[in-house]
Formats: sequence, C-alpha cells, structure tokens
Amino acid sequence: MSSKQDKVALITGSTSGIGLAIAQALARKGYHVVLHSRQSVATGTSLAAALPSARYVAADLLQEEARRQLIDAVLAHYGRLDVLVNNAGASLTIPHNDLDTATPDLWHQQYELHVVAPWQLIALSRDALAAGAAKGVPGTVVNIASHAGLRPKGASIPYAVSKAALIHMTKLLAKTLAPQIRVNALAPGLVDTPLTAGWSDIRNQWRRDAPMGRGAQPEEIAHMALALIESPYLTGEVILLDGGMHLL
Ligand code: NAD
Repeated sequence: MSSKQDKVALITGSTSGIGLAIAQALARKGYHVVLHSRQSVATGTSLAAALPSARYVAADLLQEEARRQLIDAVLAHYGRLDVLVNNAGASLTIPHNDLDTATPDLWHQQYELHVVAPWQLIALSRDALAAGAAKGVPGTVVNIASHAGLRPKGASIPYAVSKAALIHMTKLLAKTLAPQIRVNALAPGLVDTPLTAGWSDIRNQWRRDAPMGRGAQPEEIAHMALALIESPYLTGEVILLDGGMHLL
C-alpha cells in the first residue's frame, strides 16, 4: 500500500464552505490537496500556502476546456490523483411554483455544473484514480449532492433535479468503476456556508424543526466526507447528513 503522505486529493470549489473544510481535513490527514475555485485566485493561493504541499488551480467548471486544464495541471504537478471530491456548486433561490424564472438556460447551467462537470472530471481522471488499485488502494470519488436531490425540496427545482441526477450518476459509476474506483455521494441538509449566508428564514426553520436543532457546520460535512474517502469497501452509497430533518 502506498503511504497516505503520497496521496493527492482534488477538491473542487474548495476556497470556501464545505469544500474548504474537506480540503483542510484531508491536509491534516497528510494528503497533498489541490484547492480549486472558479476565479478567487488570491484567496485560493493564500489558502493553499497555509497547507503543506497544497496547490491552487482556478477553472470555470462550466467550460469544458477548463476542466481538462484542471486535471492536466494536477497530473502535471503531482503525477497522480487518488481522491476526487466533486463539490463545486451554485444555486439560485426560485420558488417552486415560479416556472417562468426557471428558464432553459438556468436548467442547462445547473445540469452542466452539477452533473456534466463531475462526469467529465471523473472521466478525465479515471486512469489516474484507478492506478492505485493495482497496489490494493482503489481511487475514490465523493460527489457532494444535497438532501434536495433525495426529497422534493431545495432552493430551486433545477438545483434539486441536478443533484438527484448526480446521485443517480454516483450509483451507476460505482457499479461500473468498481473495484478500481469507489464512488460515493454525500447529501447535506442546510450547512452554514457563504452559499446560505442570506437564508435567515431557512436557518431559523432548521433551528426550530431539525431534530439536531440547527444546520450543520462545514467541518461536520468534512468529517463524513473523510469517512467515505477512508472506508476501503464502501461504494455506491449516498449518505444523507441533515441532522434528522428527513424524519419529520
Ligand atoms: P460555497 O458557495 O461556499 O462554495 C461553492 C464553491 O463552488 C466555490 O468555491 C465556487 O468557486 C465553486 N463554484 C461555483 N460555481 C463554479 C463554477 N462555475 N466553476 C468552478 N467552481 C465553481 O458553497 P457550499 O455551501 O460550500 O457548497 C458546496 C457544495 O455543497 C455545493 O455543491 C452545494 O450545492 C452543496 N450543498 C450545500 C449545502 C448548503 O446548505 N450550504 C447543502 C447541500 C449541498
């Protein structure tokens, strides 16, 4: 088995929120981490400088060529990729009964970011992720989905549907890529991140209704992401991490 100190992890969308917490947790475990975001170069560079042997790469994941450049940059620098966390995401709040605001363009954008981009990043890094399997260490993918992909909820219907597609893709790829690559998904409920900063009504609702009495902190999602990454036999699982909200 290769030592964990050699392992390389790419976490997309990791200059803030859940992705940053996952990157920091992996760095503490001894992984070389690659931080990524769409365009926050100064923040990404200084966050990477604070972690041992970390790098930052900017890439707009809505652009096919930028996805290629991201994976090329990781492989050119480290020569390997062991862990891919597809975390980058964006959401707009659109009331579910406002069908006109959920335009075809918005549908395409959500699907591109939450389904096509993760798919292409997995395809581009498939050989690198599979390379460790010969030494008994399968590569691993964690897709950050959402509770909105499992239940009829979410900031908008296009967002929720794209996350549901990501969950189904996770299961199909887990079946297809085993045993060389394990593929799992995490479906968080409300998490305190920049994405939800203005959602005071929703945050109050979670404090009032969720059995755990609050939304999650990014570090609590990172804790479960690490468990998925480090469970050598786990594949095709979708972990719902919503503080018990689904029990209502
Ligand atoms: P965040 O806004 O803190 O981080 C989002 C990251 O995605 C940023 O680094 C941003 O640069 C990146 N990103 C967005 N669009 C991009 C693009 N076109 N190209 C490249 N990168 C892009 O948000 P967060 O809350 O930490 O969300 C992380 C993931 O967790 C997302 O996939 C989100 O859907 C999911 N999620 C969040 C919550 C929540 O309550 N915060 C709940 C369930 C799921």
